[in-house]
Amino acid sequence: MPLTPEELDLRRDALATSTLDHGLQLLGDRWTMAVVLGAFLGVRRFDEWQSRLGIPRHTLAQRLRALTALGLLRQRPYQQRPLRHAYHLTSKGLTLYPHVLMMWSWERRWGARASDLPERLVHIGCGQPFVPWLACEACGDKVGIGDLSFTLEPVDALREHPPARGRAPRLAQAEGGEPGLGLRVDRWALLIISAVLLGCHHFDELSHVLGIGSSVLTRRLADMVDTGLLLSQADLADGRRRIYRLTPASRDLFGYILCFSGWASRHHFIAPSSIRPTHRACGHAFVPQVVCSHCQQPLLAREVRAEGPAADRVTRRPRPATPPPGAETP
Ligand SMILES: [Zn+2]
Ligand SMILES: [Zn+2]
Repeated sequence: MPLTPEELDLRRDALATSTLDHGLQLLGDRWTMAVVLGAFLGVRRFDEWQSRLGIPRHTLAQRLRALTALGLLRQRPYQQRPLRHAYHLTSKGLTLYPHVLMMWSWERRWGARASDLPERLVHIGCGQPFVPWLACEACGDKVGIGDLSFTLEPVDALREHPPARGRAPRLAQAEGGEPGLGLRVDRWALLIISAVLLGCHHFDELSHVLGIGSSVLTRRLADMVDTGLLLSQADLADGRRRIYRLTPASRDLFGYILCFSGWASRHHFIAPSSIRPTHRACGHAFVPQVVCSHCQQPLLAREVRAEGPAADRVTRRPRPATPPPGAETP
């Protein structure tokens, strides 16, 4: 059943004012996410990032500056002459951990670069290997996409522009090439998947809701069909139209989308999201929590050990930056 014009406008306004979209504008490009993932795997130094990610120098410099401006990384000198800096996750940076775990879990299952990621995660709390599970903070139950219902309430504060606070410098378009450690999907793929999740299945619906012109949308949809993120089927009710549906791989991104959107609401914009999930079983507003599949306790970066060849290439553990007095440089 096609959506009514009112339903389409509501979805358009909700997506445009979602903390998901606004957060992805800051962190949603693949190089940025690759740098964040590297930081959680213990990468600290410029050259280490460059060799690990295969990222051009000026792109890396720009992403590190942007992440520092957002308060997610902090510079600390590790050598005085010549002066060199390492980049450490701040306490705000560490709040991205549930999202990073979801990204890791998705990439291990569906990504093209699984071998760049640690093979195993061990929860130091219970001593067992685990996979990250998405759970409801209110009742603690494991949650799948079918366990949630969504209400849409566009947020006026996010309607026109992203809030100035913590706004990143504008990022130049990244050069071609696939980032090592990077997510296979980018901002637009995640927004298209979110629109399909909200019931937009036809080309004209997606174009209206996302405000993407036909030629760009045609190309993006074709890419997503090619890479297994969307299914395109003939619409039995109208042979001239195609219907776009999620695949198992893109359905599996919902945990990633919910954790990132929750992070952007709670730790960056400090504003409710326009897309509000409810956990049907317990009736509470759904707040994502990522827990250990073995003991079901929430996971903290300092309580998780990564194992396998990718993890062995770095030895340092992520922890918040606490610079010694006077060591900070401008
Ligand atoms: Zn619940
Ligand atoms: Zn555990």
